[in-house]
Parts: sequence; structure tokens; C-alpha cells
Amino acid sequence: MDAEAMVNVIRSRGMHDAALLSALRAVPRKHFVPKALRDYAYNDYPLSIGLGQTISQPYMVALMTARLEVSPGEKVLEIGTGSGYQTAILAELGLEVYTVEVLPELHAQARERLTALGYEKIHFRLGDGYQGWPEHALYAGIIVTAAPRQIPPPLLAQLAEGGNMIIPTGPPGRHQILWKVMRVSGEIKKIRLGDVAFVPLVHSNTSTSNERLPD
Ligand code: SAH
Repeated sequence: MDAEAMVNVIRSRGMHDAALLSALRAVPRKHFVPKALRDYAYNDYPLSIGLGQTISQPYMVALMTARLEVSPGEKVLEIGTGSGYQTAILAELGLEVYTVEVLPELHAQARERLTALGYEKIHFRLGDGYQGWPEHALYAGIIVTAAPRQIPPPLLAQLAEGGNMIIPTGPPGRHQILWKVMRVSGEIKKIRLGDVAFVPLVHSNTSTSNERLPD
């Protein structure tokens, strides 16, 4: 499969937004997977990127991006930079991207890769994304690509009025739910988008310890 075939699969699964499809065509996904997996880069499933982490499945990237419902120029916070693929899609769409990764090696690799590919305006942070990135809040969109048990309160606090957050929650493993969380007239509303499987959002729980749940 190549990028065009990948886009055809995504379109056949119901995604028709022209700007999104051209962003998916424009970002060279083969540069975001380990060399040994390049032949599989455009197949519609997640791939290992090392350190127990994965690059999200193309359809999932498309779905999450579409459900963010943000416009060019708006500020978006991404938690879980990983390979940087989702980050690049957001940048292609003309968004002002703030991305947070907790693993130093992935953070450094993604920054290098995205800079080499010419994405020069992305803001990178190494740290615990559970806390968001308060210095640049509020965000029109927040996209979380690792699953916490529950929606982190700091992320809710950083969501602008009228903004959307796309986030999986649940225990490690396969029983997770993908949510669209909206702030409408000051109130938080949630819509369930489907069942998903993401890597866990690691959270050291140093500051606010009342969020800890038993394993
Ligand atoms: N969007 C990425 C997904 C990578 S997998 C891609 O498609 O490549 C999820 C990523 O979230 C991993 O890189 C993992 O290290 C990171 N992560 C896990 N817990 C985190 C946390 N608390 N803060 C920031 N990143 C976190």
C-alpha cells in the first residue's frame, strides 16, 4: 500500500473531509515507522515504534482529527507525540500545534524527524501530558493518543469554550472508550465515539494524588 491506497481505505470507511484527506496524502508516513516496517507503513493498522509504544492506525488518526472540528490557525494540544505522525497531520491542517511526550527518546526523535521534514512551527514539550501545557492554554482542540483511566482534570481546565477534546479512557488493554468531550456554555458534555485500544497514559501522580485508581 502507498499513501493513495491508505487514503482510499480511509475514505471507504466514511471520512470525506477534503482538507483532512489531503493532509493524509501529504505526510510521508513511511518516515514515521522503523525502517524494518516501512513496507507496512500505509496499512490500516498500528505499528510498533519501540519502547512499547505504537504509531496509531491511519483510520484512527483520521477519525480523531475529524472529530476535533478545529479550523486553520487554531491552537491544538496533543498529548502523546510518539512518532510525531498525528502531530504532522495537525500541522498540515494549518493548526498551531503544541505536543507533549513523556519519553525523552521519542520526544527527541519526533522533534528531529518533524524538523527534517520541514514542520518548523510545532511546539514540543518533554513532560507528563496529564498536566497538559498550561502556559499556552486555552486550546480549541485537545487530542490525547494514550489512555488514562479517567479524563485528566488539568486537560478539561485547558479546553476553550466551544472546544473539543478527543480522548480514550479505560484500563490498560482493550476495554477502552473513545470520547469527544465538549465545553458548551461553560458545561462539559461527552459523546461516546467507540471502543478502542491505546497504550496507557503513564502518570506519576506526584502533584494531585486523588486521581489514583487501583490496578
Ligand atoms: N500519536 C502517536 C501515538 C503514540 S502512542 C503516534 O501516532 O505516533 C502514545 C504515546 O503517548 C507514546 O509515545 C507514549 O510514550 C506517550 N505517553 C504516554 N503517557 C504519556 C504522558 N503522561 N504524557 C505524554 N505522553 C505520554
